[in-house]
Amino acid sequence: MSSIPSERSFIPIAKPQLGEEEKAAVMAVLDSGMLVQGKRVAELEAQFAELCSVKHAVAVASGTAALWASLLAHKIGPGDEVITTPFSFIASSNAILYAGAKPVFVDIEPDTGLIDTTAIEAKTTERTRAILPVHLYGQPCNMTAIMEIAACHNLVVIEDACQAHGATFKGQPVGSFGTGCFSFYPTKNMTTGEGGMVTTNEDALAEHLRLLRNHGQSRRYQHDILGYHFRTTDIQAAIGLVQLKKLPAWNEQRIANASYLSERLEGVQVPVVQPDRRHVFHQYTIRVSGDRPVLQTHLQEQGIGTAIHYPRPIHRQPVYQSLGYDNMLPQAETASREVLSLPIHPALSQSDLDRIVAAVNTFTTSS
Ligand SMILES: *Cc1c(COP(=O)(O)O)cnc(C)c1O
Repeated sequence: MSSIPSERSFIPIAKPQLGEEEKAAVMAVLDSGMLVQGKRVAELEAQFAELCSVKHAVAVASGTAALWASLLAHKIGPGDEVITTPFSFIASSNAILYAGAKPVFVDIEPDTGLIDTTAIEAKTTERTRAILPVHLYGQPCNMTAIMEIAACHNLVVIEDACQAHGATFKGQPVGSFGTGCFSFYPTKNMTTGEGGMVTTNEDALAEHLRLLRNHGQSRRYQHDILGYHFRTTDIQAAIGLVQLKKLPAWNEQRIANASYLSERLEGVQVPVVQPDRRHVFHQYTIRVSGDRPVLQTHLQEQGIGTAIHYPRPIHRQPVYQSLGYDNMLPQAETASREVLSLPIHPALSQSDLDRIVAAVNTFTTSS
């Protein structure tokens, strides 16, 4: 095969950064013969707790498991309602269904795509137990408003921070306001292959989470509660420890890439960055009205990968239709028709960024 000149090569929408250090870390675990949850998991938990400025981090099998375990640890179940956003990856809301509770959807802010905190109170009822906001694309929700509503109505807050490792609201890390849930899926800002983490300042909750993730086992073959298999391995944690070290520089690069694009893109709505928040740009998502499919095809032809996060609000998914969700959430519907994510990952070169700008601008200024 002939090699393709780098300036012509395809720019993928996501590119996990896995190198020699990660390989060596995995090999060291394999050589040790101790594969399951062990000292590397404990080390990753300690370092991740530090990242989030919390007392405890509990490693689990995935971001989905983190959300599910958090709901269970807060004893949220049948008869309970959880307020969340319809504009997210489906796991945010599916976890509520796994727990046996009912997702109650609140529409999103038109500019940020985040849950509209001014619309939450109207959806609270006697049965509301929790608010589950999603820090979508790496951008923190308005946590002042959410924590105030939660305090006023005695609600639990479970932050879906699966896209927001290292993001902050008014200088405070996401995952430290309520119970934080993170994912280490390959395309996220850091990965362990598959994996997740729950963060909390509550000792008893952390203890409960540790039981839930390992069949309720407090001592060998003593099972105090109905637990699950939500564990992760030392192989994954070894990768995570290397990735966590690199996360701050990667986030800086994502932020720098985002400002480069936002200063230059024309004819599209670029992401809003609020001054009181550190947006870590898991995704760089623009809004295009009208000709999104044509733009997407044009970019594909120019060798630029794109993605739609998300093409259908959760309440419009077939599985939710059958559960009786057919209400109108107009901002989520509009966003799902207009959003388009462009490559923003830290492996982008200067020429990649310039190619993205040129490809978008030739399209928007000629049509
Ligand atoms: C990735 C993601 C999840 C689920 O994480 P997994 O590790 O894939 O289970 C949940 N919520 C959001 C917002 C996500 O982006």
